[in-house]
Amino acid sequence: MTPQSPRTLFDKLWQAHVVHEEPETPTLLYIDLHLIHEVTSPQAFEGLRRRGLRVRRPERTVATVDHSIPTKRGPIQDALAAGQISTLERNAREFGIALYGTDHPQRGIVHIIGPELGLTQPGMTIVCGDSHTSTHGAFGALAFGIGTSEVEHVFASQCLLQQKPHSCEVRIEGKLSPGVGAKDVILALLARIGIGGGTGSVFEYTGPVVRSFSMEERMTLCNMSIEGGARAGMIAPDDTTYAYLAGREFAPAAFDGAVKKWGTYRTDDGARYDTTITLDVTDLGPMVTFGTNPGMGAQITAAVPDPSAIGDASQRASLQKALEYMGLRPGSRLSGHPIDVVFIGSCTNARINDLRQAAMVMRGKKVAPGVRALVVPGSYAVKRQAEAEGLDRVFVEAGAEWREPGCSMCIAMNGDEVPAGKYAVSTSNRNFEGRQGKGSRTFLSSPFTAAASAVTGRLTDVRSML
Ligand code: SF4
Repeated sequence: MTPQSPRTLFDKLWQAHVVHEEPETPTLLYIDLHLIHEVTSPQAFEGLRRRGLRVRRPERTVATVDHSIPTKRGPIQDALAAGQISTLERNAREFGIALYGTDHPQRGIVHIIGPELGLTQPGMTIVCGDSHTSTHGAFGALAFGIGTSEVEHVFASQCLLQQKPHSCEVRIEGKLSPGVGAKDVILALLARIGIGGGTGSVFEYTGPVVRSFSMEERMTLCNMSIEGGARAGMIAPDDTTYAYLAGREFAPAAFDGAVKKWGTYRTDDGARYDTTITLDVTDLGPMVTFGTNPGMGAQITAAVPDPSAIGDASQRASLQKALEYMGLRPGSRLSGHPIDVVFIGSCTNARINDLRQAAMVMRGKKVAPGVRALVVPGSYAVKRQAEAEGLDRVFVEAGAEWREPGCSMCIAMNGDEVPAGKYAVSTSNRNFEGRQGKGSRTFLSSPFTAAASAVTGRLTDVRSML
């Protein structure tokens, strides 16, 4: 490829960050922003100490506590969680890294505060020791999760060895109906391609639906790219992106100049993706998962699929196993299935727009008897905004719990768990066996669907309530 050839957004960002490449070996990429948290960083810091190294670019490294932090005020009961948090505090001090710690007014889930602070910007390479780093691709960044040993490598060198993925255009066509949003779109994509459908690729989301999405919706879409096996998800920046970033704490001081440059981060006319997937969402209804991975999903109006109708033996066995775990009968309707817990939160759906949608449905209503509903804002900034708009009162008056920011029930931390055998409707991104507590059964959904289900006590098609 010559420099003049039309290039995809992914190719442009990849090429701009190559430090060294050789045939048949991974490429060494420069990393612009390294986000860290309390769970995947301790061993990496220990590795630096053992080797007598410092963090190469502490000013390009930003820490927060989110996974292990309790979402109720008061002392941390879980000794392991308390240890992880105090270890990060010590490491951040020792290595000169900015920490959005426990009581910091801008603390929150790492994938929510990066964009909120304006740290996440178009054209960047961004890594974090967390799978859902793909979220930041919504800004036209190349962002992906890395493992602990890679965290140490980035600490030491600000670079990372990476095999170049393929480019895959995911074109979203059509027009969404009221009550159907980005979470439904990504669950529909995953239901279509499966959890391995994007393996080895970077998704670039294109098309009129994506262009019409807010930044919050774009982040929801990119967040779950990883669930389709993609290394990252990205969306070319546009006026929506620039309007979101303008005035943020770490947005460039010379903003207009930055916007001019960011405008070049788009796929050129005539550039070729390795593959293209087209999804028409005109007839899409609210989606829920019925199985034990995010690709096992269907419209809420559908019936639970029947494994005996599947020809492939391993897929049949996998669905059979998932339905047994979920306690669901093939052919039964998803809509109307009783539920026990509702979780509105996580890096997928705990931004202000998500909470506004949930509050729109719950306003003036009560959480159904016997259902526990937990609303966990993604950051203190989201919490403050929600409280300024009175959303917290809507939730509390409905009988839901209103918590401090954190990952919470997404990973069953600090007692924010779904009891064994119980059903949760969750706006998070993973429904694996035991993800929300040992024996927990998770239906993934949008905030609209979660809120509607909270007030009826059953999986509910929100369109009947709007
Ligand atoms: S909310 Fe869940 S998926 Fe997101 S960073 Fe926290 S634990 Fe990971």
